[in-house]
Amino acid sequence: MPLDALIFDVDGTLADTEEAHRRAFNLAFAQADLPWRWSVEEYRVLLDVAGGKERIRAYWSQLPDAPGPEAMWDRILTLHAAKTALYTEAVRSGQVPLRPGVEATLRSARDAGITLAIATTTSRVNVDALFEGTLGAGALGWFSAICTAETAAKKKPAPDVYLAALAQLGLPPARCLAVEDSRNGVLAARAAGLEVLVTENAYTRGQDFSGALAVLDDLTGLHALPDPPASMMGPMLDATR
Ligand SMILES: [Mg+2]
Repeated sequence: MPLDALIFDVDGTLADTEEAHRRAFNLAFAQADLPWRWSVEEYRVLLDVAGGKERIRAYWSQLPDAPGPEAMWDRILTLHAAKTALYTEAVRSGQVPLRPGVEATLRSARDAGITLAIATTTSRVNVDALFEGTLGAGALGWFSAICTAETAAKKKPAPDVYLAALAQLGLPPARCLAVEDSRNGVLAARAAGLEVLVTENAYTRGQDFSGALAVLDDLTGLHALPDPPASMMGPMLDATR
C-alpha cells in the first residue's frame, strides 16, 4: 500500500516538550500564589490526561479545597493562559530542540513527495512557537494540515483530531501513517483507522503501546527514505528494534 502522508503528534514526538510544559505550569502556579508544584513523577501520571486545561482540572478536583466546577473552570482558563504565555516564550526562544531524526525525517519525506500533517491536542500557538524556535516559522508551510486543540474539542485518546487531519488531507487512513510517543496517541490514531509508529521518550517509556506498528527509541533510523515513497514502509520496519 503506498504511503501518501505522515501525520505527526507534537508534544513528546517532534520535541521533548513535556519538561518545558511542566516548568511553565509550575511557574504559572507560583505567579498565581498557588502552592502547587508538579514533580516529574507527578507530571508523568498527569500526562494521562490530554490537554493542559483538563490536566489542571484533574489535579485540582482531587484536592480538598476544590471549588465548584464553574468557578474552577474560570480560574483554570486564567491559569492556562498564563502557562501558555510562559511556555511559548521559552519554546520560541529555542529552549526546546527537535528530537533526534525529526528534521531529517521531515526533509526526506518532503523530498520523497510524502505529504506532512500534524494532529495534536496542544494549542496552535504552542505548535507555532516550537517551529519558530527550531526550523523557523516557514517550516509550518511544510504541513498540508495542522490540526490542534482548536480543531477538535474531544482530545486524544478520542480519534477526532486524526479524523480532522484525514478529512483536511482528503486521504483514507490506509494511505497514512501516524507518529506518536504515547499510549493516548496510539489509541487515538488506531481509533481513526491509522497505523502508528511510536517514538518513545522518558515520559512515555514503558507505556502499553499495543496496536502500534513498531516502537522506536527515536526517529534517527527513518531519514533514509527511499524513492519512490511507495516502498517506505520496508525501511521503516527495518529501523525497529
Ligand atoms: Mg505526545
